[in-house]
Amino acid sequence: QAKRNGRDDYATFDPVMQQKFDYTTRLEKEMRNALKQFNFALYYQPQYDFKQNLVSAEALIRWNHPELGLVGPSDFITLAEESNLILPMGNWVLAEACQQLKEWQSQPKYQHLTLSINISAKQIWQKDFVEDVKKIVVDSAIDLSKLKLEITESVLLDNIDEVAQKLNALVEFGLSFSLDDFGTGYSSLGYLKSLPIEELKIDQSFIRDVLDDEADLIMVKSIIDLGKNFDLTVVAEGIESEQHFNLLKEFGCDVYQGLYFSRPLAISEFDSLM
Ligand code: C2E
Ligand code: MG
Ligand code: MG
Ligand code: MG
Repeated sequence: QAKRNGRDDYATFDPVMQQKFDYTTRLEKEMRNALKQFNFALYYQPQYDFKQNLVSAEALIRWNHPELGLVGPSDFITLAEESNLILPMGNWVLAEACQQLKEWQSQPKYQHLTLSINISAKQIWQKDFVEDVKKIVVDSAIDLSKLKLEITESVLLDNIDEVAQKLNALVEFGLSFSLDDFGTGYSSLGYLKSLPIEELKIDQSFIRDVLDDEADLIMVKSIIDLGKNFDLTVVAEGIESEQHFNLLKEFGCDVYQGLYFSRPLAISEFDSLM
């Protein structure tokens, strides 16, 4: 981004823009290296049923940065999407999650666990998305009924028919889909009709104030009823207190995830929890 200086005889770079550009390219380069050096890790956040049995987990990516320490996805997923690095990153997440599932499936006490991973819309839009996913899953030789792919409604938007076709192919293959951050996008209800979804995740922004905010309360209750009417599993994320848990339980929510139970855990911590 060039900016004219006062005398208008030459262009200079706006230092703020330049800094931002430097930062972005540096981060991108670092991410590329981190992928080569396996400096990413999956953390596992436990999910419970209403009896507080551990039934599943969501895999959440972390970047083990040499200087910054553990960096969360909100700081790099958008950039990864903009730079297309989300494609190799997404494949790595899938392969890593499959490897973990494979290990769980070899041990009786872990065999019941379902594992969810987050998929970016950019991945779905790839021509080879379906084939890539199938290949990684087949190579890992897991029981694929225990693998769930979370997609977010807000970014699917237009090409809904094409997306539906791809998801249907993967459902036929044996995978299942969850609609993440439900309620925050524009056409949530339409997706329920056209996409092969088997689970709804109520966005944590609705749960946060559900104890004080009447509108949020009605929203949460309605989403649960909606999910039930469509015969979907309903997951509440952002359960931070016993009151949250009790209220959602009263409404008939199926699965609970949040800091009240556990933060996302490194695999060694997850093992200790089991
Ligand atoms: P998400 O899929 O909605 O994941 C839930 C987020 O809520 C996680 O943040 C989790 O740590 C956080 N969380 C869990 N319990 C609580 C709670 O009780 N209170 C609050 N305030 N937050 C809670 P995280 O790990 O920072 O991930 C943020 C987002 O980054 C995820 O939102 C997901 O959209 C994206 N993401 C994470 N991993 C991946 C990945 O492997 N691939 C892609 N494409 N996106 C990912
Ligand atoms: Mg998610
Ligand atoms: Mg999300
Ligand atoms: Mg979410």
